[in-house]
Amino acid sequence: MRESFIGQVAVAVPLDKLLSYAIPPSLASTAQAGCLLKVPLGRRTAYGYLFSRAAGSLKGLKEVVEVVDETPLFPLGMTAFFERIAQYYHHPIGEVMATAVPVGLFGNPAKSEAAGEQFYSPTALAGMPRGGRQQEILQWLRDHGCASRKELSGLFPGSSQILKRLVELGFLAAEERAGREFRLLPNQEPLRPELSPEQEDALRAILDALDGGAFSTFLLHGVTGSGKTEVYMRAVEEAHRCGRKALVLVPEIALTPQLVGRFQERFSLSGLSMAVLHSGLSRDERKNAWKGICAGTVDVAIGARSAVFAPFERLGLVIVDEEHDASYKQSEGFRYSARDMALLRAQMDGATVVLGSATPSLPAFQRAREGRIGYLPLRERALSRPLPEVKLIDLTRAGVKGSLSKELGLALRETLARKEQSLLLLNRRGFAPFLLCLACGTALRCPNCEITLTYYQKKNLLRCHYCDHVAEPPRACPHCSGVDIRPYGSGTERLEDDLTRLFPEARVARMDSDSMGRKGSYQEMVSRMAGKDIDILVGTQMISKGHDFENVTLVGVVNADAALFLPDYRAAERTFSLLTQVSGRAGRGALPGRVLIQTHNPDHYVFRSVVGHDYEAFFEQEIRFRQEAGYPPFGFLANLVVAAESLEKAEAGAAALAVSLRRRSGQVEVLGPAACLLSRIRKKYRFQVLLKASQRQSLHRLLEAALVFQKNLPGNVKLILDVDPLDMF
Ligand code: ADP
Ligand code: ZN
Repeated sequence: MRESFIGQVAVAVPLDKLLSYAIPPSLASTAQAGCLLKVPLGRRTAYGYLFSRAAGSLKGLKEVVEVVDETPLFPLGMTAFFERIAQYYHHPIGEVMATAVPVGLFGNPAKSEAAGEQFYSPTALAGMPRGGRQQEILQWLRDHGCASRKELSGLFPGSSQILKRLVELGFLAAEERAGREFRLLPNQEPLRPELSPEQEDALRAILDALDGGAFSTFLLHGVTGSGKTEVYMRAVEEAHRCGRKALVLVPEIALTPQLVGRFQERFSLSGLSMAVLHSGLSRDERKNAWKGICAGTVDVAIGARSAVFAPFERLGLVIVDEEHDASYKQSEGFRYSARDMALLRAQMDGATVVLGSATPSLPAFQRAREGRIGYLPLRERALSRPLPEVKLIDLTRAGVKGSLSKELGLALRETLARKEQSLLLLNRRGFAPFLLCLACGTALRCPNCEITLTYYQKKNLLRCHYCDHVAEPPRACPHCSGVDIRPYGSGTERLEDDLTRLFPEARVARMDSDSMGRKGSYQEMVSRMAGKDIDILVGTQMISKGHDFENVTLVGVVNADAALFLPDYRAAERTFSLLTQVSGRAGRGALPGRVLIQTHNPDHYVFRSVVGHDYEAFFEQEIRFRQEAGYPPFGFLANLVVAAESLEKAEAGAAALAVSLRRRSGQVEVLGPAACLLSRIRKKYRFQVLLKASQRQSLHRLLEAALVFQKNLPGNVKLILDVDPLDMF
């Protein structure tokens, strides 16, 4: 007789516990732990993840309907990790699973794959063809390695016949790749450089810990360009040699093709199998990578936030690059921090963790200073290259034309004359942050959000950066009917325009999430920068991340004050790290770099520390403020947001929440309620209650009470829990 089983299932709905289902004998052989199932729930069916099963049967238990995928999607050892995450964030286990192991990857038959794209790369054939255009394209590909037909037709219009001819002549190889938009950038550095003494020391400490086989954490604090990546790569190779799997987390993988390319190149030489977890991969590629990790054939996986859930049976080494980066925290829905969960996972697996950064988060540096985690400093740039010279431009005194001071304008001109490249940071998209009526002073606002609409001149429209509401600019002010309405302030689109006018001979380009909408456009831009086809690149914080362009010798920051005075406890830290990171893009090659920062507050300690490349000076100041206010790392926070379409209901809900929590608060401070800085988003009014505790345990207890409160809220009022919030807007 075939046996029956009872399975414990995490159903992908907001339920905070596992549900039991009967596994009928007909499914007993396929429904193994780790599988994706379909189960009945009320009157419908839902996806569920089978956590465990045991022989037995129970009357009245509902039966599993279907096994969606027979191959387990995660190893058994991970279920404890998932449960810990659910507890930590007070988030339903089924929704944790839906984020960790996306159903879309496995359920439902594949939609037809996007048609393949042709890629061209140079062959080993030396020499040059005769045609001038042929030579031009071949030379470009020899410099850049590989490109898609689409990219090439952008760069060399009408080139498709020439490409065909070059393939016939044997100069190029063509290859069809299905659905892959993600391309690794080649890299012309010498392979495997000799390590500097500091790199040696860091690597040795990491390897000793790996040998020890117990959970240990290091902060690799290396200035920009100090060769942290080299240390990561060696550590991964060594872990592999000891038979241990490695996970590399990067803040935004789409923004780091150079970094991924370096890993890829190195590991293919040393025979490691690497999986890149990237949303640009086709569904099948992703699925294969996932299953390879599950089956143990992948040695190292690299990816952004969600890669922390990569289904390794047991991890030996975890690297978190740019550990300070806020994009490790998911800011919507399930608000988890991949950085923190990587630490938790490593602890459960007995792995070694390397947190890398030029500007460590305050908690990380504090722990290192207290000796609770290992401290591995890289104080010098590789090859003893100097850090760039950083200078402040006092906007209260400098002559400013548009958004550029005379001095910054002059520096751009000089850099241009030397045929070197410049980066200009302006952390604001669009043409202008709002349209202003000159008669009554009204700024045009979003109807759904308490925020001004950003003006885009090229498209002549207004757009909300929160809800994507789009409107045509009105002819008259909706308030006073005045007709003199003007764009106020400037964003990257306006700056790009200004620069094109100021420097007609320069090739100016813009990199922000508006201009990078199309898939592949980011990498195209990075290739053009690397190929020196751009003189001045304007952009948002996107340009501050990870790039290694050797010919960039000038970095300008148009308005450094923008983020400094936001009412947020991390405003100074964020500003310091943004400015340090973007400064670090200058002078990475043989040529020295310089950085000009425009500010109205030249005496502020954040700017002083950036100028001095002095992380510790910044830290000493900032940590005192944190301690006085009881903010992390001296306390633990949770932000509770009550949201509703009715202002009264949202306000009353938050007030009731605060009262209810205060009754049980014990040692926990309950602050508020107060209107959120973004007091209305997507038609919902928002109020917040902030919890501040000196012990994590007491914070967790109070969050339990908040969950009870949440269950009793009417359907049209929502309570959102954010544990360890990174911003509180
Ligand atoms: P970081 O990640 O710390 O900003 P990178 O790892 O990008 O720095 O290194 C900066 C540059 O220095 C890279 O081009 C890298 O190849 C090079 N580099 C790193 N370590 C060494 C070394 N030991 N010798 C020579 N060059 C090195
Ligand atoms: Zn809006």
